[in-house]
Amino acid sequence: MVLQRWAAARGWQPPPALEQAARRNARPPAYPRGWPGFLVPPFELLPAPREVDLSHLVAAYDDYDQLNEAHFAGVLPPLRIRINPRLRSLGGRIDPRRRDLELNYFRLEELPATRVEVVFHELIHLWLYTRGLPAGHTAEFRRKMLERGHCSIRYGVPGDPKGPRHAYPGSDRRVVYHCPHCERQYTRRAAYRQPMLCGSCLREGRGHHRIVLVARLEGQDPR
Ligand SMILES: [Zn+2]
Ligand SMILES: [Zn+2]
Repeated sequence: MVLQRWAAARGWQPPPALEQAARRNARPPAYPRGWPGFLVPPFELLPAPREVDLSHLVAAYDDYDQLNEAHFAGVLPPLRIRINPRLRSLGGRIDPRRRDLELNYFRLEELPATRVEVVFHELIHLWLYTRGLPAGHTAEFRRKMLERGHCSIRYGVPGDPKGPRHAYPGSDRRVVYHCPHCERQYTRRAAYRQPMLCGSCLREGRGHHRIVLVARLEGQDPR
């Protein structure tokens, strides 16, 4: 099923009416030389999905079909959805010109309930692009996110008590460093791989002071 969807995405040609409408809408600065259109094959062929990817991809194609009908009036072009095992920090990433959506395998495994929201977010980029509109996190993008209860561009779970914040538990993980010299605290998403100096002390001419990891936070709101 997944390979058939990939083949359909590769073989698709945009209907002339769609291209004309997109060209009419496209304006600088988002499209300084007009609407770039969709790339037509041949672009790269992909190796078949891994066995462990298949159920996630089938589910993501279901999401795509349902979202396309429910939120995009069925106008979205066929899409290649795949898993990029190297994607770790993002939930997903889309290349609208190639109609190519990459998903984060680790997030799919850990938080399958958020998959549909990741797909929704990426499809908004595709929907805007398909109509020749600026495809970034614009006001129209945010308005679309609201249709599924997201008060920000992040793909949390609607109704999450943390409200507009990202509901991905990974985003709650923080490490706190402390400079014993100036007492400044630094909060980071991940621990540094090597000893680090206090940037504040360096900038202010107080000398070289190594910052010390003092806390690891999780499951609370450190911001
Ligand atoms: Zn985005
Ligand atoms: Zn310091």
